[in-house]
Amino acid sequence: MLAPKRLLTALALTLIGSTTVQAADEVVVYSSRIDELIKPVFDAYTKKTGVPIKFITDKEAPLMQRIKAEGENATADLLLTVDAGNLWQAEQMGILQPFTSPVIDKNIPLQYRSSSHAWTGLSLRARTIAYSTDRVKPGDLTTYEALADKQWEGRLCLRTAKKVYNQSLTATLIETHGAAKTEEIVKGWVNNLSTDVFSDDIAVLEAINAGQCDVGIVNTYYYGRLHKQNPNLAVKLFWPNQADRGVHVNLSGIGLTQHAPHPEAAKALVEWMTTPEAQKIFADVNQEFPANPAVPPSAEVATWGKFVADTLPVEVAGKRQAEAIRLMDRAGWN
Ligand code: FE
Repeated sequence: MLAPKRLLTALALTLIGSTTVQAADEVVVYSSRIDELIKPVFDAYTKKTGVPIKFITDKEAPLMQRIKAEGENATADLLLTVDAGNLWQAEQMGILQPFTSPVIDKNIPLQYRSSSHAWTGLSLRARTIAYSTDRVKPGDLTTYEALADKQWEGRLCLRTAKKVYNQSLTATLIETHGAAKTEEIVKGWVNNLSTDVFSDDIAVLEAINAGQCDVGIVNTYYYGRLHKQNPNLAVKLFWPNQADRGVHVNLSGIGLTQHAPHPEAAKALVEWMTTPEAQKIFADVNQEFPANPAVPPSAEVATWGKFVADTLPVEVAGKRQAEAIRLMDRAGWN
């Protein structure tokens, strides 16, 4: 049965008759990504299709709560957020509606999508090692695990364990090594800290640049942002684990809400967002890697060099999130 609102719309359109062009369905997006990172993509879509897109930005937790609270009276069609850990949370809360699409299947590799089709990745970021070009030779670095070695005592900077990015990285370590070995690694990192954990990745990079520490773990786009502001940054990115499983790659992604009022229009938008046209804009605005492998990264991002990425499905970050949080706590990572 048609929802009352849609029934009225259908009625209104019937009354208007065939001489009027039918208004395109709007799409409403709840986004934890800030306006400047998404508006260019939505503007391009509206220009191309005439479909208006409304979006509300906030932190992911209140947005998810709001979708849950709205229930069948949903206003949001899509939830756009970062990190597979967050998307997996949304999936667990039952606020997403799985759907399959040959377009998305073709454009986005399996490892960057939910196995239940509840969400898909749109852009990728590596969480990798950053090092001081003054005090570290790239040859000194090998793997994430090796940052636990004695060699790095008093030289490592990390962001807080409260951030989902670190929880996701730890979750993939558990998947790879098991909990016991991962706890050893994480304890080694904590023992090697030069100072208290930082609240964000930019602060980690600035601490390396300022000589407070020599190495750290950050998301690539933060490096891109800081490097753009300060081309003389004495910090570079290193791709670890190139001889084994590869670099930890996470994503920003999107899911259709359980009670989306405009599901067909929303699905069409998601499909378009995986195409080369949108992927280019979406990745470039935040110096991310396109999730569609047919699309090359921006010139700036390309200067960081190619790397082998971990092939684990990123939803592992969600599946093992609770376990990772407990392990990080036991290891003393604040
Ligand atoms: Fe971020």
